[in-house]
Amino acid sequence: MKGRVILKRLIFLVLFLSFVFLLFGEGKSSSIYVKTNEGRRACVEGKIFLRIPYSKKVGMDAIAEKYCGDKKLVKDILKYNPRPKKGSYKEVRIPLELLLPSYQIETIFALFKEDKRVEEGFLHKYNGESFETLAKYFCSSSLDAGKLKKSLNGKLPKKGEYLLIPASLLSKPFANLPFEKKEQSVKSSQKSSEEVNQSPPQIKEYSVEEARKLLTYGKDEEGEYALYHLSQGEALYSSVVVRFTGRLFASEVNGLAMEIAKRSKIDDVTSIPINYEIKIPLEYLLPQFYPEDSNTYKQWLSHQQELSTIINTYKNSSLDGVVVILDPGHGGVDRGAINNKVWEDSYVYDIACRIKEGLESKTKAKVYITLVEPTKGFKIDDKKYLSPNKKAQILTHPPFSLDSSLATKRGVNLRWVLANSIYNNLSKERVTTEKVVFTSIHADSLHPSLRGTMFYVPGSEYREQKWSANYENYKELKGNKTFSLSQKELKTAEGLSTQFSKKLEGAFKKNEIRLHPYSPTRDHVVRNRKAWVPAVLKYNLIPCSVLIEVCNINNKDDANLLCDPYFRQKIANAYIEALIQYYS
Ligand SMILES: [Zn+2]
Repeated sequence: MKGRVILKRLIFLVLFLSFVFLLFGEGKSSSIYVKTNEGRRACVEGKIFLRIPYSKKVGMDAIAEKYCGDKKLVKDILKYNPRPKKGSYKEVRIPLELLLPSYQIETIFALFKEDKRVEEGFLHKYNGESFETLAKYFCSSSLDAGKLKKSLNGKLPKKGEYLLIPASLLSKPFANLPFEKKEQSVKSSQKSSEEVNQSPPQIKEYSVEEARKLLTYGKDEEGEYALYHLSQGEALYSSVVVRFTGRLFASEVNGLAMEIAKRSKIDDVTSIPINYEIKIPLEYLLPQFYPEDSNTYKQWLSHQQELSTIINTYKNSSLDGVVVILDPGHGGVDRGAINNKVWEDSYVYDIACRIKEGLESKTKAKVYITLVEPTKGFKIDDKKYLSPNKKAQILTHPPFSLDSSLATKRGVNLRWVLANSIYNNLSKERVTTEKVVFTSIHADSLHPSLRGTMFYVPGSEYREQKWSANYENYKELKGNKTFSLSQKELKTAEGLSTQFSKKLEGAFKKNEIRLHPYSPTRDHVVRNRKAWVPAVLKYNLIPCSVLIEVCNINNKDDANLLCDPYFRQKIANAYIEALIQYYS
């Protein structure tokens, strides 16, 4: 009797499990969920979807309108969203092909962060997928698996290597992704690194005043806009989006370009006729490009005027009495930006070591550094390819090794904790505030069309007046975990940092280092419609503090430059020249 009960239960269990497997098996085994930059969920559940938080208040019509551009698509969306048995939807999933282009881009670059659309197709970092799965992701149907296999000669690469999905096989959302035209990259890759170093910037530089003159303003049923006429050789991404809206990150530049293209009734962003009227919605513009009579512009202008009155009064061209705190970004498990066979941590560390060496041998400045790679010390490395800084540690007391998942967040915070502690000790020794300079050194990972150096300064309106560091056991925080700056001190910091940054711009130009063509000095980062100041600057007490992004690792030529020890030395030389200028 007992045996039969168990057998019955067993049969039931097997039947039940196979039923569950039938229901979910296909999708579940290969499901992937990734949070997008905008906080929604991109996922693969058999197909690629974007999951959007649902509330009854908003309703399905509004979701279809916003994400697909048409209320009528509710029916199609519901096909992928069976009604929940209890309560209402928590999320609504929309398949890639129904999404508007900017949401397609959001989804694609959340799922395939390191992938790239190129002229020949889509470069995918291989992660062990079968031909069928690849076809399901990137092609119109899984039936394309055979063609894909043929185009790859039947071979799949090693995990982590790139494979090319040919343009002819890409499904519409992937085929429509913007890419750099090949002509340019072929030309530049043929140059020797020496030539690349000396080549003038490709994009003409404009001052804010000159760029303003290129815009007119108008209003239609969709709202206010700025009007720009595209000149010969200009691309929507760089000449409009990057220049006038300040967006720099690939998915955002691409997304906004698509949105502006739609607003301007452009079907094909790769062939926009010369002189075509581009409408940029007013709310995306940087404040300096708002209409002259707008409050936004007036406020921006008066802020600039106020900053220009804040100047450093300490003068000593041998840098006697000057203290420089250098902060090489990343290290340990946090290697920073990685692309084109280069990564941030060891290369920016080498630049910091070169600056340290130069300042100590040629000037009277005292140098502190926030981080060390113990296996290398502070030795300059003239090799092209540098090994990662695996053992890097922040020089707090005790030191903090960047070898765990805490590396990124705590690692960043301990940098400003350390800098603030050095600064407070210097103040006790009566070193005046103007004599201290903080510089964090990084390399960017921006839209691949962008090249050159950028400088971030702490924009006062993006900071707080009071903040704290809640870490135990660091000598740097003994007795004082809270920090504050008055409104006036925040303004002074922005003013002095901007003044130093302008000296950096000058010295970099003089040394023929390419600067970012549009506003190389910026007081905040724009991403996901949010604006902020990087934490090492935001929570830093030192009035003169600048973060340098030496070049853009996502651009192949810039990545090559970073591998060139001559370029790294040029950066160090230019930095020291700028510092001497600032104190002369
Ligand atoms: Zn960085």
